Amino acid sequence: MSLFDKFTTLQETRQALLQSGVNPFHLTVEKILSPTEAIMNGRHTILVGSNNYLGLTFHPECIQAGHQALDQEGTGTTGSRMANGSFAAHGYLEEAIASFYDLPHAIVFSTGYQANLGILSTLAGAGDVILMDADSHASIYDGCRLSGAEIIRFKHNDVSDMEKRLRRLGNRATHTLIVVEGIYSMLGDRAPLAEMVAVKKQYGATMVVDEAHSLGILGEQGRGLVEEVGAEQEVDCIVGTFSKSLGSTGGFAVSRHPLFDMIRYASRPYIFTASPCPSVVATTTAALRVVRKHPELRQQLWANANRLFNGLITSGYTLGAEVGPVIAAMIPNKELALTMWQGLLEHGIYVNLMIPPATPNGECLLRCSVSAAHTEAQLTHICQTFHTLKEQFLS
Ligand code: PMP
Repeated sequence: MSLFDKFTTLQETRQALLQSGVNPFHLTVEKILSPTEAIMNGRHTILVGSNNYLGLTFHPECIQAGHQALDQEGTGTTGSRMANGSFAAHGYLEEAIASFYDLPHAIVFSTGYQANLGILSTLAGAGDVILMDADSHASIYDGCRLSGAEIIRFKHNDVSDMEKRLRRLGNRATHTLIVVEGIYSMLGDRAPLAEMVAVKKQYGATMVVDEAHSLGILGEQGRGLVEEVGAEQEVDCIVGTFSKSLGSTGGFAVSRHPLFDMIRYASRPYIFTASPCPSVVATTTAALRVVRKHPELRQQLWANANRLFNGLITSGYTLGAEVGPVIAAMIPNKELALTMWQGLLEHGIYVNLMIPPATPNGECLLRCSVSAAHTEAQLTHICQTFHTLKEQFLS
């Protein structure tokens, strides 16, 4: 008997997948061609699962900024900001994010995962309560665990369940951190944020919103669901990632609270890790500029999302939510999902295969993420292929 024994089941599952000729969790992008195309399994493939919502990974301004930073500042920072000091560009990026949100404080983290770990584990601690949506991302779960606070889950997007649990807490409600997401990553549905904010206000709780999938996508200026529902004065902290609409890596948190910057001095996932490298900071800062300068990218994303959504609905698919950047087709079982996912790949289309336990309610999903960079021809091919597979396997 050894500690490794527990991996036997995982290995058996993986083996069974391999025997079926598919290993969806070990795909290699052999060559990346553009924000929406790659060579995979030797085949020219359209990427419909990369979260590259605004298609910025090859934007000339971002690439140029990255090159320049690499030439002038080197490959890495080789240490944390607390111990080794910040590069000036870290500060510029924080100023750019704060200005984008029109909020006074911003902290940059090395990834979005670490932003959740860093904020949740520092804002809440032993003796406090975290009230979280049951369908939260793993980084939210892990951040909550790291906090040492009591963790209570409420039913996904259920305001009355959230309210009931907050009420039961009595005077502990003022020491409660509510955590929700703007757009949920699996089904693409949104939090009923306006109603949730009203409840949090009523009970004097604190609220963090993770806008990983809504930054640059929702709201007049692209500031996410908080902007769209007009809750910018009410939400205490917004967390997000640079790894989706901004086509880079890293995470951030913004807030209006006068003590927010103190989190920097208490947050282990901020303090004890290397700061983002210069080229990443530069491409992120450039991407933020592009998002502000080019609202038409957001409009194109929505036009493309509508196109794909309507195409799949017309073919008879059941989708996870209203139209949005994440469009998830629900498939009745794992075997069919796997077969159809492979069918899409054979037609040169890559989407995310999502199966339990990674999905809510045990759903099997073919999850698409739409990009502003998808062309008319690509969207036609994607819709036609989904249609063919529906006829072949689900009729
Ligand atoms: N929050 C949510 C809701 C996410 O979907 C993700 C990434 N899938 C993250 C946080 C983590 O972001 P990153 O990839 O930058 O670590």
